[in-house]
Amino acid sequence: MRKNILLTPGPTPLPPQVLEAMARPIIHHRTPQFQAVIKEASDGLKYVYQTSNDVFMLASSGTGAMEAAVINLLSPGDTALTVQAGKFGERWTELCKAFGITAEVVDVEWGKAVDPQEIAKRLKANPKIKAVFTTLCETSTGVATDIAAIGKIVKETPAVLVVDAISGLGAIDLKSDEWSCDAVVSGSQKGLMLPPGLGFISVSLKAMKLVEASKSPRYYFDLRKAKKALDKTDTAFTPAITLIIPLIEVLKMIKEDGLTNIFARHKKMADATKAAMKGLGLELFAPTAPSDVVTAVKVPVGIDGEKLVKTMRDTYGVTIAGGQAELKGKIFRFAHMGFIEEFDIITGVSCLEKVLTQMGYKFSLGAGVKAAEEVFLK
Ligand SMILES: *Cc1c(COP(=O)(O)O)cnc(C)c1O
Repeated sequence: MRKNILLTPGPTPLPPQVLEAMARPIIHHRTPQFQAVIKEASDGLKYVYQTSNDVFMLASSGTGAMEAAVINLLSPGDTALTVQAGKFGERWTELCKAFGITAEVVDVEWGKAVDPQEIAKRLKANPKIKAVFTTLCETSTGVATDIAAIGKIVKETPAVLVVDAISGLGAIDLKSDEWSCDAVVSGSQKGLMLPPGLGFISVSLKAMKLVEASKSPRYYFDLRKAKKALDKTDTAFTPAITLIIPLIEVLKMIKEDGLTNIFARHKKMADATKAAMKGLGLELFAPTAPSDVVTAVKVPVGIDGEKLVKTMRDTYGVTIAGGQAELKGKIFRFAHMGFIEEFDIITGVSCLEKVLTQMGYKFSLGAGVKAAEEVFLK
């Protein structure tokens, strides 16, 4: 018998309110009861998104909402600019390719954030670019993107700005309207503290014109259908009822805490995690633009990174994430997103210290926990 402590960048732990709501008997979706649920979910999502635009709910993982963005905004033969600073930026490029859209790629070294001026330059050089695809938090590297600065640039052009906020929404600031984001995509299993299975997408008026004009083949993910239904407080197809009911519990929790407090809590957890790593003599992978939702750390020389993650998980029940693709075995990622608190971080750091010690890494035992505690005490 062992506890399972999740410190991964999705899925994230589920609050008891979510578990309770999921256990309720199911209700039918074409009813006044469920209409009230849709209304509450829709209003709550607007609060979290900081938008007055419609936010559509899809029964899919976050990638489904990314696909919805690509096919609803662009047609085969169109050109898009994709920012590739890691595995999730690459997904935008792959999605464009899959649907016959030419992707001009802004290649960014993994671990660095894109320079917004580079986007300005590329937009100027090619006025055919109809959409700019970015990532709020590049979960594969732990990097946060300056969406506010990019929004200012894209706003002045005919192009729309699309943000993958799958990891980050509800945990770090994203002012969708103020920062001129035309479509923001998210998912249920990260900052929103739900199981996987819901995708979300907001659409601005500027983007809605592209949705109407797109010639890409689409059916389930057709946002014209989603819009028509939402205008009647309905969904086009059977919604994920057992996820949307807990969603309204989560949205209530978020509203009660307030976004400002939630962002401050994530910042503190990120600061404590970074301090802990420094205390252990470990180097951050992305020190110049670290996100407050996941901290990427270089595996020290002589230590088997994959074994480290595996031992923490399989022997002690503490799950962190390893590196993806070219970073496999080279970094580990310690997430502090969603229903995570101070003592979850302490437990995670303590487990990391234990396994590092067993693997022969030399440091002063307790130094990471001490450094984290000092941040939390401030
Ligand atoms: C997790 C994640 C995704 C993938 O979402 P799925 O729900 O697995 O489809 C995409 N982008 C980012 C930034 C993510 O963190």
